[in-house]
Amino acid sequence: MRLVFKFGGTSLGDGERIKRCSSLVKSYYEQGNGIVVVCSAMGDTTDILIAMMNAAVKGDRGAVEGYLRALRDAHLAAALEVVSDGELRTETVQLLNERLNDLTHILSSIYFLREVTQRSKDLVLSFGERLSTWIFTSTLRGLGIPAKYFEGGDAGIITDSDFGYATPILDETIENIGKTLLPHLSEGVVPVVTGFIGRTRDGAITTLGRGGSDLTATLLGSGIGADEVVLWSDVDGLLTTDPRIVKTAKTIPQLSYEEALEMAVFGAKGLHPRAIETAQKFGIKVRIKNTFNPSAPGTLITTHGVSTGSVVKSVLLVRDVAMITVKGSSVIGRPGSAAKVLQSLSDAGINVMMISQSVSESSVSLIVRRDCADRALEAIKGSSPAGAIRGIECERDVVVLAVVGEGMKGTPGVASRVFGAVAKRGVNVRMIAQGSSELNISFVVKEADGFEAVRAIHEDYGLS
Ligand code: ASP
Ligand code: MG
Repeated sequence: MRLVFKFGGTSLGDGERIKRCSSLVKSYYEQGNGIVVVCSAMGDTTDILIAMMNAAVKGDRGAVEGYLRALRDAHLAAALEVVSDGELRTETVQLLNERLNDLTHILSSIYFLREVTQRSKDLVLSFGERLSTWIFTSTLRGLGIPAKYFEGGDAGIITDSDFGYATPILDETIENIGKTLLPHLSEGVVPVVTGFIGRTRDGAITTLGRGGSDLTATLLGSGIGADEVVLWSDVDGLLTTDPRIVKTAKTIPQLSYEEALEMAVFGAKGLHPRAIETAQKFGIKVRIKNTFNPSAPGTLITTHGVSTGSVVKSVLLVRDVAMITVKGSSVIGRPGSAAKVLQSLSDAGINVMMISQSVSESSVSLIVRRDCADRALEAIKGSSPAGAIRGIECERDVVVLAVVGEGMKGTPGVASRVFGAVAKRGVNVRMIAQGSSELNISFVVKEADGFEAVRAIHEDYGLS
């Protein structure tokens, strides 16, 4: 089989974990599979790189030096732990040191200039994946596997120049990847590719947005026509709900792309919406597996969701949101007023997670991320002519519940059963939205009622 294995930051957190991941690669490789590896940055390296740039812009030299030291220590310690062969070890450490010196120079210019462009930010962020991927390549080589290091751009990932959230130029990228990687695979080489980063046509390094290594993985999978893209993490797969809320939450064996996408949009941990979209487009299967429990089948995401006997598959709780309600005479019956509110938010770069308009049309309710609430309020007020808005309210103590499952499509009474279950526990529903896809019902309750509402639905649908 042709496989892509992507390892997330936690799975590569230290030398011991890197060893665990590399021995997984080795055992699958020795069974005769062709494998492409994608590495995220180690642990919270990306966050440290961001903090480091902020410190440099502020002129906090001590902090910059502290972060650099922390990165150097973590990467060198990991390398020394995983690469035992003398020559390979010297070579790896030398390479890491060169990279870290480059990083130091870049940070020093940011420090002196007290500014950083989007383009240089992406260059700095790319160091996380470039360091971890070298370590992983050397680890595999130390195990006797012919591994070859690739940066995203070398592997063929070409993007636009929207630094920080670059979009791959799809057809070109897919074609490049096949041309670049397939010959190596047929020679038994294991390409090890930096996650998260691509390259513009004129050679500048770009990043694909936080969590973007998943997208790298599904792009590579699509390019080589992989039988499966495995996203390795430290959980057994996607769960019916958060096990901190319901202890008996279970792993979902199989999901359709649409269901997975719905869950990703509502923030399911370890799922990147753009990665799922790409896999869907090229019909590539994605599996989520646990490095600590590799024999468990995990969660498979593919064309068919396969009925589990329940119309509802998962109940997600989205915290850190706020509900904004706009009331006003101008809202009543005037076409386009909801659109205007949405436009003002989109102009301010604020993502609206949910919207619902009451039947009387006298109010519109919106859900935004809680840390955007103030900016959202300002944007809405600023865009409306004086007197048009009668009142604007913001509630910050709310949460969203998203109930996801393909079986809801065409099954009558799902909404009434969901809300019935919640009502029986005395929980008041503040706002409701159903996507036109009918794959999800989402609604808003007070934060204090959130757990109870999740338990009510999870139990009612027998998901445990
Ligand atoms: N290292 C990047 C991040 O932390 C990309 C990734 O992990 O997928 O966002
Ligand atoms: Mg990640």
